[in-house]
Amino acid sequence: MTLRNILLHPDPRLKKVATPIAAVTDEVRRLADDMLETMYDAPGIGLAAPQIGVTERMLVMDCIKDENASPRPMVLINPEITWESEALNVYEEGCLSIPEHYAEVARPAEVEVTWTGLDGKIQRERFDALWATCVQHEIDHLNGRLFIDHLKPLRRQMITRKMQKLKRELARA
Ligand code: ZN
Repeated sequence: MTLRNILLHPDPRLKKVATPIAAVTDEVRRLADDMLETMYDAPGIGLAAPQIGVTERMLVMDCIKDENASPRPMVLINPEITWESEALNVYEEGCLSIPEHYAEVARPAEVEVTWTGLDGKIQRERFDALWATCVQHEIDHLNGRLFIDHLKPLRRQMITRKMQKLKRELARA
């Protein structure tokens, strides 16, 4: 497994619509391993392939935060939201591509998602609470959308300017 470099906003690669994965190959399985490793190392609870510069429809997540509970690493290939609740839930979101910035985002409180698993089989599950927020946040990434795109323009521009400054500083270091 290899730790991958996480792209930081703003980056044109984070704005692209990712392409579906045609088949679960060894390469796809390796990518999933790398993404999980990179996500746990960050640490984060979700990571989408575009965040490591791979414009393909795959995401990983594990929203178990209790250190005494067993982890639940999930790999979702070509995920689609097939149902969403009318009820919304507001969560203070963050993103590994926008470190140290957090903002409240309202999203459907529950969603049903269908995806292809690493075994090539179609899976379906209903997510709620943090899992629902996380899976929607990550699917947004596959469509070139960031959580700050849900915010008012002024707030989004402020965060983007701070990120540009951070990237300039990192480039100089
Ligand atoms: Zn994110």
